[in-house]
Amino acid sequence: MNKIIKDQLKKLKPSATLQINEECNRLKKIGKKIYKFGFGQSPFPVPDSVILALRNNANKNMYLPMQGLEELRATIAKDLNKNNNNQFESEDIIVGPGTKELMFLTQIAFDGDILLPAPSWVSYEPQAFIAKNKVHWIKTSSNTNWFPTGKQIEDKIKNIKYKNLLLIINSPNNPSGTVCKNLKEIAAIAKKYNLVILSDEIYSKLTFDKNYLSISNFYPERTIVSTGLSKWCGAGGWRLGFFGIPKELNELKKSLKILCSESFSSVSAPVQYAAIEAYKGNHSEYLNRVIKILSFTGDYVYKNLKSNVINIAKPEGGFYIFPEFTNAKFSTSSEMCKDILNKTGVALLPGSDFGLENDQMVARLSYTDFDGAIFLKNTLGSNKLDNEDIKKNAPNIVDGIAALKEWSNSL
Ligand code: GLU
Repeated sequence: MNKIIKDQLKKLKPSATLQINEECNRLKKIGKKIYKFGFGQSPFPVPDSVILALRNNANKNMYLPMQGLEELRATIAKDLNKNNNNQFESEDIIVGPGTKELMFLTQIAFDGDILLPAPSWVSYEPQAFIAKNKVHWIKTSSNTNWFPTGKQIEDKIKNIKYKNLLLIINSPNNPSGTVCKNLKEIAAIAKKYNLVILSDEIYSKLTFDKNYLSISNFYPERTIVSTGLSKWCGAGGWRLGFFGIPKELNELKKSLKILCSESFSSVSAPVQYAAIEAYKGNHSEYLNRVIKILSFTGDYVYKNLKSNVINIAKPEGGFYIFPEFTNAKFSTSSEMCKDILNKTGVALLPGSDFGLENDQMVARLSYTDFDGAIFLKNTLGSNKLDNEDIKKNAPNIVDGIAALKEWSNSL
């Protein structure tokens, strides 16, 4: 029989995040008690006014402009400009079916190598692989809050012959939950070597201290800002993300626009109309309450998991934490996660899926296994949350963390 798949693509597996989600759903369906700490999606409902906008625009059935609806792009540009120095205009925005697709098309278009901090989100590297871009990993550790230092980036660049480089920075970070404190230093190196930065800011509105800082403040001229609805608006399944692309990268923008038009054409029309309300409306009350719940839950997980055998950085945004099990003796972090799942029902993703060495006993934990609508409703009037709120509204977090701690103590 003729082979019909390119050899290169046979090396790929389904994306780890989506795979663990489906595996957990399967296990739950056959009656297993599973703590769904593997996949990372917002547990909260979309704000009512945004749902209403979607409903009211269900009749919008025409294709929209390939770059996205003008009114939406203007609204997005305004929202992005609160947080960066680019002064984006509507023409600088490209709307896509999630930022994942836009990142993928960027990798297809980009003529150069990719610099990735390890750990990094699961899909950056496979996307580079598909696009045949070489990846250079920059190892980080909990000592630097899981972000690279300027010097580490510079040392890496000095060893690379091909100097057209794209650096991906993601803060608040998936998988570590930490916020990058040395953006200025990284920006200075980026400037020195004329890097393109892809700043993945999908968790920016879920920064716990509410003082989000974008690296585009320090290097606006060649930083692509990437964000969207999925995380802050509880709308991962709606699939709407966007890029703000500075004028200096117009050539890349033009190419991306063509690739968009030749792949997804344009994003679902009702979702784009609803997104106008998401970015025009005032959702600070909703966001405050979401952040209060996430930061309290993250803190609960941090305090209850941290021990003399579990190293862990305190979460600062988003909904992940990245524990290291210092006494675990498995050949790979993937083996370790399988053991945890079998013995406790806790689903985690191994550090190796995020670019760590196989023998680093680190795993990502997403503390989103609760019903956000119920948690929001039950804590409506509360200024401060306490452990009783977690016990009542997020029992799987309490039980799953206890089971994981017990597992680590039994090693
Ligand atoms: N970003 C989420 C995660 O890391 C899920 C979305 C995805 O991977 O496509 O779990």
